[in-house]
Amino acid sequence: MKLGTIIISTLLLIQFGCNAQNQTQQVTEKPVEIKNNNMKKTEEDWKKILTPEQYRILREKGTERAFSGSYWNHHEVGIYKCAGCQSPLFLSDTKFDSGCGWPSYFKAINDSAVKEHLDKSHGMIRTEITCAKCEGHLGHVFNDGPPPTGLRYCINSGAIIFEEIKP
Ligand SMILES: [Zn+2]
Repeated sequence: MKLGTIIISTLLLIQFGCNAQNQTQQVTEKPVEIKNNNMKKTEEDWKKILTPEQYRILREKGTERAFSGSYWNHHEVGIYKCAGCQSPLFLSDTKFDSGCGWPSYFKAINDSAVKEHLDKSHGMIRTEITCAKCEGHLGHVFNDGPPPTGLRYCINSGAIIFEEIKP
């Protein structure tokens, strides 16, 4: 990436106020404790079925770098599913270009697909979004999205998998 591009990207992030996710997560050395994990999988099980990047995001609440994931600039028609459990999470017709560098949606596929959690990490108060089925970390939801909801689900590409719907 050229320096000019980096500067412009940084300015865009500041301008759009979307840099909340652009934080480096601290890697904990302790095993991650999973509470209310509906999938009944151990961390070893998850390590076997997820790529290292998927594991870092879904199970360790990691964040991918802006503009680095597969789906921030992805415009196909289909369903975005959880990379951990394949549960349907978002539809392509609710996806919008937020300028943040992460795939962004104005609503989830239904009310029970995702769960919200208060997140006070990194000196910010945010609303974390997890998959309701496997509790995997997906990203955060903010109140600066477009109509009709005014919400912006800011999701890591590494937490989701796209499935095309053929017309
Ligand atoms: Zn899931």
